[in-house]
Amino acid sequence: MEKPECSIYMDHASTTAVDPRVVDAMLPYFTRKYGNSSSIHSVGREAAGGLEEARRTVADILGAEPEEIVFTGCGSESDNLAIRGVAFASRGSGNHIITSPIEHHAVGHTCVQLEKEFGFEVTYLPVDRYGVVDPEDVARTITDRTVLISIMYANNEVGTIEPVAEIARIARSRGIPFHTDAVQAGGALDLDVRRLGVDLLSLSAHKFYGPKGVGVLYVRQGTSLMPVQTGGGHERNRRAGTENVPYAVGLATALRLAQKHRTEKNQRLAALRDRLVEGVLSTIPDTELTGHPTERLPNNASFVFEGVEGESIVLGLDLAGVAASSGSACTTGEERASQVLTSMGIPPEIAHGSLRLTLGSENSEEDVDYVLSVLPGIIERLRRMSPLYQVA
Ligand code: PLP
Repeated sequence: MEKPECSIYMDHASTTAVDPRVVDAMLPYFTRKYGNSSSIHSVGREAAGGLEEARRTVADILGAEPEEIVFTGCGSESDNLAIRGVAFASRGSGNHIITSPIEHHAVGHTCVQLEKEFGFEVTYLPVDRYGVVDPEDVARTITDRTVLISIMYANNEVGTIEPVAEIARIARSRGIPFHTDAVQAGGALDLDVRRLGVDLLSLSAHKFYGPKGVGVLYVRQGTSLMPVQTGGGHERNRRAGTENVPYAVGLATALRLAQKHRTEKNQRLAALRDRLVEGVLSTIPDTELTGHPTERLPNNASFVFEGVEGESIVLGLDLAGVAASSGSACTTGEERASQVLTSMGIPPEIAHGSLRLTLGSENSEEDVDYVLSVLPGIIERLRRMSPLYQVA
């Protein structure tokens, strides 16, 4: 893959470039096969053919049936539809939702709205110092009013992988629908919904070299879901709106490529990540790896540095030609320390000094070594100026 304009891009958890093979697969659906997939004439049928093939591809990868795949406008929409859709469909039987404090805002803010505006009760389970939810806590928290459990597959800030299969077993044994936000897991982890045992699963194409603005929600057959967006009967009445065929084709192509090369790619990225982590921890004092030491996404290296502001590190790296992020892109501009990090027991003043480096296909050992050559100097300069950091 070509290198993006910024000389070294290490922010793949925020988004990725679109793979040229994905663009090629999408292009015919803009100009030649542009029909409305609901039209019954041949132009429409051609578009519908592309859409249904994309749906079959996604279903095959997920070990699901095509009817269980809903195309959406993004990962956030998939999360909203899963949570609000199940919550509203189950209002007769209960009002309790179980989730965690480290979910993406697409889950977290949806739960808060259900709590504040619609009378739901939400339990936010604790996480340990690595950001892991204890399945036993899930089991203990279920009541006869619980209508939904939503725990993410892998965390977007620290890369920790949650024990979703275990949680799913508990949820299934108690008859409660279980949703997992797999947006960060899409390109890296096993997505077989039968093996995982989940009832709902969210994906977003732009995290695995597909286009922005298209997502998937897997909804297991028999799961009650009230549509959030009403209108025509698209997506089997679960998501109204003329289907975005080129983007569905792009998502399916990107997912197929990502999952096909997953094992080799993960090995390569994990080796680069380990080199990066070891390099950072061995050259910069008062630094900690955040997230689980082993149960983490292969491309995620995230840290906290005492006595510095994460945003200043990101700006320093940007000047040095490296694109990185502090926490998640979606929390940029918020004053508070990352709730993910504070929920893991990291004090707010330290959580402010977070840096997330997320690797991707185009990164090389030279890229890692370049970052290791500039980062210690950036941290040292910032610490010299910082009233919060005492040089030993
Ligand atoms: N869930 C997680 C874990 C994410 O990391 C993101 C995006 O960063 C989303 C949901 C939202 O996805 P989208 O940007 O497609 O709305």
